[in-house]
Amino acid sequence: MQEEIPQTTRAKAELLENGAIFVKNVKELPFIADHSTAGPTTGQKSIFLRFNDEKLVRLALVETQSKTPYTFDVERKMIQRNGIDWFPAKQVKSLLHCPEQTFLNLDSNCIYHCKFCATPVIQSHVSHRILKPQIVTRTIKRVANQGLSAVALTTGVFTSPTQSVKHMCRVVKAIRKEFGDSLPIGVEPFVQEEKHVDMLYDAGADEIKVNVETYDPEIFAIVCSEFDYKNNLKMVRYAGKIFGENRACSNIIIGLGEKEEKVDQGAEALADWGIIASLRPINLSPLIESQLQQALNNRATRPSAQRLITHAIKHKEILKEKGLDVTKFRTMCLKCTGCDIVPQRDL
Ligand code: SF4
Ligand code: SF4
Repeated sequence: MQEEIPQTTRAKAELLENGAIFVKNVKELPFIADHSTAGPTTGQKSIFLRFNDEKLVRLALVETQSKTPYTFDVERKMIQRNGIDWFPAKQVKSLLHCPEQTFLNLDSNCIYHCKFCATPVIQSHVSHRILKPQIVTRTIKRVANQGLSAVALTTGVFTSPTQSVKHMCRVVKAIRKEFGDSLPIGVEPFVQEEKHVDMLYDAGADEIKVNVETYDPEIFAIVCSEFDYKNNLKMVRYAGKIFGENRACSNIIIGLGEKEEKVDQGAEALADWGIIASLRPINLSPLIESQLQQALNNRATRPSAQRLITHAIKHKEILKEKGLDVTKFRTMCLKCTGCDIVPQRDL
């Protein structure tokens, strides 16, 4: 029987299909907008909205109303669609990158050139900085009593995968030393060898995200041309083995021109390994759109709301069958939920 989809889940999928919102009275926003150097809205300003007191969504800000059907009226705490009141909503404070978490990018530079990723594109515009362990712990302390429940770390690869993992391990150890077990730590490294996963586990990380990016080998060869598809999957699988069920997750991007069934097959393969996918709509940011479309012969498209829901329903069935539980995640995207339709959380 077809599952009944809550109205707010459909609404979230529609917001994600578009991905952007115009804010009326932007200066009146209670919290300043985020400006990320990693993740789906890299290089763009974005805000988090909780609407109908339920769903959380992260949307890029646009400066002109004509660029999106969605408007957030700050004063009336209302999302409007095509000028008509749609759902009551409140802006949610992002601690550092997302609500309740400090999700820090340890290095905003990267030697690689994944076609969907804006990090290498913005690096010439931002001053190169590597966040040292003591800067990270000081940053966490600043927000520790503002509802912080987790820490997450990502990084570009500044000299080599091993060096960036070693640096991440130093930061994990420093956080543990300073905060004990009070804060779960999630890590999102670039992993090329099994030892990278072992190093992070031994350093004390609780959860890991190693990204499949796309389960379609032909698309992978185009968008991650510097990496080996099979080795990447091997690393994802190994991360699941070492960290265990409900402690390893992985992005599969939707909208790179892959066959629809490839997304579900990827989610299923991951679930077989005890790993939960984040099915992530491609962000066609102006920073990467032309390089991505050129590489993919214009096949990249932001997925429709219906496509996001269809994959999420299938994913929910897969997770149930494999006995996996999204709600066990304490860090990173499966805890945050802002960018995706997350099974067991949104539907
Ligand atoms: S490895 Fe690829 S996805 Fe990761 S930061 Fe570098 S370019 Fe971006
Ligand atoms: S879902 Fe992930 S990428 Fe999106 S805002 Fe939350 S933590 Fe960041």
